[in-house]
Amino acid sequence: MKTASFHKFAKLCKQLEKLSSSISMREKLEDYFKKIPKSSIKYASYFLMGNINPKYKSNDLGIGDKTAVKIVAKAFDKDEKKVKKIFNEKGDMGNVVEKLNKRKRSSLSLKEVHNTLDNIQKTSGKGSQEKKKEKLADLLKNSTSLEAKYIIRTALGVLRLGVGDKTILESFAGAFTKDIKNKNIVENSYAVCTDIGELGESLAKNGLEGAKRFSITLGRPVQAMLAQRVKKASDILEKIEGDKLAAEYKYDGERVQIHKDGKKIQLFSRRLEDITHQYPDLVEYIKKYIKAKKTVIDGEILAYKKGKILSFQKLMHRRRKHDIEKYRKKIPVVVFVFDILYLNGKSMLKKPYPERRKQLAKTIDTNSKKVRLAERKTSKKFDEIKDFFEEAIDEGLEGIIVKSTSKNSIYQPGKRGWLWIKWKKEYAEGMQESFDVVVVGSYHGKGRRKGMFGALLCAVYNNENDKFETFSKVGAGFTDEDFETIGKKLKKIKVKEKPKRLKVNKKMKPDIYYDPKMVIEVIGAEITRSPAHTAAEKKGKGLALRFPRFQNTREDKSARDTTTVKEIKSLKNK
Ligand code: AMP
Repeated sequence: MKTASFHKFAKLCKQLEKLSSSISMREKLEDYFKKIPKSSIKYASYFLMGNINPKYKSNDLGIGDKTAVKIVAKAFDKDEKKVKKIFNEKGDMGNVVEKLNKRKRSSLSLKEVHNTLDNIQKTSGKGSQEKKKEKLADLLKNSTSLEAKYIIRTALGVLRLGVGDKTILESFAGAFTKDIKNKNIVENSYAVCTDIGELGESLAKNGLEGAKRFSITLGRPVQAMLAQRVKKASDILEKIEGDKLAAEYKYDGERVQIHKDGKKIQLFSRRLEDITHQYPDLVEYIKKYIKAKKTVIDGEILAYKKGKILSFQKLMHRRRKHDIEKYRKKIPVVVFVFDILYLNGKSMLKKPYPERRKQLAKTIDTNSKKVRLAERKTSKKFDEIKDFFEEAIDEGLEGIIVKSTSKNSIYQPGKRGWLWIKWKKEYAEGMQESFDVVVVGSYHGKGRRKGMFGALLCAVYNNENDKFETFSKVGAGFTDEDFETIGKKLKKIKVKEKPKRLKVNKKMKPDIYYDPKMVIEVIGAEITRSPAHTAAEKKGKGLALRFPRFQNTREDKSARDTTTVKEIKSLKNK
């Protein structure tokens, strides 16, 4: 079978690195996808995202910078100290291997590189670190200088081509459906089939029909359905459909998509990562209290001790690779379930919410204290829903989610529509709005904050142009502990140059740039137009959040999950 060469792919990477407009990137990708064999499309798609596999499978090779120095030294027969020195100068292992590798030709295919990296990822157990080193050193030795540069970056998880999944999906529409306008259909399909490689291959083989054949299956998470927000409670009535109102408590924990396939349980986060290993306790509860054999259930994990819900921050201590058993005891969890997406071979996505909720109640053991149904109120009277909201606040919760009960109240993967409307405490008149933003830069601190960051430059994701646009400079609200923990995390995602997809005004140029990965929650008093920021820029002025204050880090959210430009615009116009 024909397979694409890795050298051509490396050349494509080099070209993409030079481009900054997403349209030119899309065109370049379209051209590339049209030329390569259909069976290689999946490998190219994963690599372009900086991964080896679809997002929901493991992409971590378990190799850090220190080990990489050893591998590079071994591959090119150099002294480790020398490699380390060049690495410190260049700050990027890709540039180090490009310099040390002198090879001009190779016969590596995309598939071979993929399989080797995948194999390294899967290597575990005794002596695995040595085996990994050997395999990667061999691969680097057998590749050309340009290939090696992108291989090592991929292996370390720092490829950073600046190509977003949206640009890849649009290029699929252009290359395989002959009309870029089909991008919406392709994007909707991606919300269900979150394996970008599988989707690309299907489109290449079947044209637009290839986008329509996907349904929810066990082991492959769909994107989470999200909720819209309103500013005034009375707006809910305007927006929500259905003759009856339904509202559920809004629990502030970690979103989880539970896949139960007999004895096999998998838990996926909102970012679609497999988080099963973090919650062995939850896996046990699911086996015990979810009665269906094969099902997909949506819910929220909460830290819960002695009948009390613990904070989101406490729950985040469960996000760890080590000491899982210790923390399982220290911070016990329960799950509140609120939706069912699949049951015994059948998709439930197109069923209306009242039917799904009824089925959900039948699917779990409602006596269980560990797997619980989200508290809910249905009523024709809005006043009763308001009382329910007050009750939620009294219980110490964030607020409620009002859910449409109309015939059309389907489960919409990846959509933030009006079928679910969140109504949070801080939206109540007079209180401040909260926003999820991604950290893209920082400014050095002065005085008491010397040696730390003084303020963070934060952006929101604009899905119209696939860019991150700055919205706020946040310097208030951090505790001493925040400075330390955030500072540590930021160090790991520091980059030398401005990330490609970031739009930043010269005036706001930060001292350090970061890969847009860390999402934080901030509150602010007012949204204005300012020449300093670039969010939804119009006539040189972007939307900006005034008087921002840091609230929390949101490790459960990805950069694409920030408050959208569209939401901010709608809040400004209120
Ligand atoms: P936000 O993160 O502010 O956009 O709010 C939406 C999030 O609320 C969802 O992604 C869920 O993680 C969470 N949530 C909590 N309780 C519920 C519920 N009963 N129904 C739906 N989502 C919920």
